[in-house]
Amino acid sequence: MVAGNWKMNTTPAEGAALAQAVIEHVGTPGTKVVFGVPAIQLTQIQALTSKAPGFYVAAQNMHQEDSGAYTGEISARMLAAAGVDYVILGHSERRDYFGEDDTLIHAKILKALAAGVQPIYCCGEKLNIRQAGNHEMVVGKQIEQALFTLEAEQMRQVVIAYEPVWAIGTGVTASPEQAQDMHAFIRRMIHNYFGQDVAESTTILYGGSVKPDNAEELFGMPDVDGGLVGGASLDAAGFAAIVKAL
Ligand code: 13P
Repeated sequence: MVAGNWKMNTTPAEGAALAQAVIEHVGTPGTKVVFGVPAIQLTQIQALTSKAPGFYVAAQNMHQEDSGAYTGEISARMLAAAGVDYVILGHSERRDYFGEDDTLIHAKILKALAAGVQPIYCCGEKLNIRQAGNHEMVVGKQIEQALFTLEAEQMRQVVIAYEPVWAIGTGVTASPEQAQDMHAFIRRMIHNYFGQDVAESTTILYGGSVKPDNAEELFGMPDVDGGLVGGASLDAAGFAAIVKAL
């Protein structure tokens, strides 16, 4: 899978033009291609992806309750009813700027699964944690809290995105070896808890300054199953090149 996270970019007209251009550049993809778009564009982009085989649409967040007095929020049921395929949950920007932690993210994952929207669960360590050599411990704890009470059948619906915070929007990407080491660690954790079958079928994406010129090397690593792309997903030709690198 290659997923673009547009974050808070593009007007509806710009977003529609971007998705259309990517679809034209890529043609029929050999993998799943996901557009993670601002909420206001979900139905519009869903109308495009539903007609383009291999393309899907993702929300960038959702609320953990079904409905109620939560001004400004959107529920999993609303996403499902709008035909939204995936929802990005636990992005580091949600954690940092909106105070989300893995207990909350776990609740959101359960609601997404119950509604039939597949979570793209983001995890990753900050620079000081990596420098102290504690990255596996921290990411391991995130995975444990967010995912380890799911049933195996639920876990099969979850996509994991490893996004080292120090690589997001910085132009500094993890080396292919750093990405591979963490992805293998995550897959071992999934194996130990959910078994080999689930571990082998879990898609683990790398995110953090993925660009057309580094995608092939990253995607070539055995446990890197694709990418979650921020800045470079806003350029149609560049994003299409990243899709083709998988
Ligand atoms: P960049 O690709 O801009 O580093 O962003 C990565 C990201 O946060 C994707 O969710």
